[in-house]
Amino acid sequence: MPWPADYHNRWTLADEVSLAGIGLHSGLVSRVTLTPGTSGGLSMGLMGASPVPLHHHLVREQRLCTAVQLPTGLVRTVEHLLAALTGIGISDVQIHVEGQEIPLLDGSALPWVEAVAAVGLQSLDGQRSPPVVPETVCIQAGDSHVLALPYEGLRFSVAVNYPSQAIGQQFYEVELTPEQFVEQVAPARTFGLQNQLDALRSAGLIKGGNLHNALVCDDRHWLNPPLRFANEPVRHKLLDLIGDLALAGCLPQGHISAYRAGHALHTQLAARLAMPCSAPTTAPNR
Ligand SMILES: [Zn+2]
Repeated sequence: MPWPADYHNRWTLADEVSLAGIGLHSGLVSRVTLTPGTSGGLSMGLMGASPVPLHHHLVREQRLCTAVQLPTGLVRTVEHLLAALTGIGISDVQIHVEGQEIPLLDGSALPWVEAVAAVGLQSLDGQRSPPVVPETVCIQAGDSHVLALPYEGLRFSVAVNYPSQAIGQQFYEVELTPEQFVEQVAPARTFGLQNQLDALRSAGLIKGGNLHNALVCDDRHWLNPPLRFANEPVRHKLLDLIGDLALAGCLPQGHISAYRAGHALHTQLAARLAMPCSAPTTAPNR
């Protein structure tokens, strides 16, 4: 289907979309139903409760995923769904969650994109006004960083550096449009290093992870090839970054760069770039 040309206009779903599957960390089945919205922004509700607008004040730090605290409970691993919706240009949608975690599906954003493509998009009146990066913002932690630079368009530069020879150093740069997102970013799956999996399982994480929904490598090789892109891991990092930046309210106008970054740095950047209209309606509960 033809995707929006850019991120300037408002779009919602033409019809309802529903997908179910297991959560990466909980291993439990959950269902997500997306319904058209017109109120501006992405909103999420749990177990039949009214959806609330998603913004960075709701983020709760979790290992290896981004979680949001809704009035009726915590929802984990929101990033791939938020990346899918934001990346394809949807500005208005209600996300209804039955469960504690967004389903991992195949580990990428592609199943969400395909489900949305099956019903199509509906244009809404009015333009969006993305937050403009006014000056360089840099957030560092150890040798990881995220950077936002003033820029007329929307550009991402992402780099990773892993000791495993299967991944090594990877770099990916893109001038993002919905079409670029669908073709170049959405199919990139989540990944992990085999020697870390036992420790994560012992910590009660990745109970739903398996070789069908995550790429896994040892020191030298991928255990479950083929990859969808030679540099699929760094593209997945960009997918995570887009999903986390959705919590700023809207993708910004600027050049965003990330080096060895994860959800904590991504969501801190979302908070720095957040639109004023995404201020909380109630005091944050930290
Ligand atoms: Zn991810």
